[in-house]
Amino acid sequence: MGDQLMVCRNVCDNIKAKKPNGTSRYLVGQKRCQTCCVFLKYDGLYCPCCNMRLRTKSRYIKLKELVLELPRIH
Ligand SMILES: [Zn+2]
Ligand SMILES: [Zn+2]
Repeated sequence: MGDQLMVCRNVCDNIKAKKPNGTSRYLVGQKRCQTCCVFLKYDGLYCPCCNMRLRTKSRYIKLKELVLELPRIH
């Protein structure tokens, strides 16, 4: 312990995600690594480059969709 620093080892260069056209990066499943300052196309929860937990807005999007699906009651 103490040896595992959250640093970018440039592994993320290989899985860097391109910016999608006309939609949110989070909507297309891209995840943000704050340490590497990049968006990744990666299925795991942790950055394979720096081991930092990746940020995803998927939960927020699901909640938003749920709200939109509710019938409007006036
Ligand atoms: Zn990195
Ligand atoms: Zn990273």
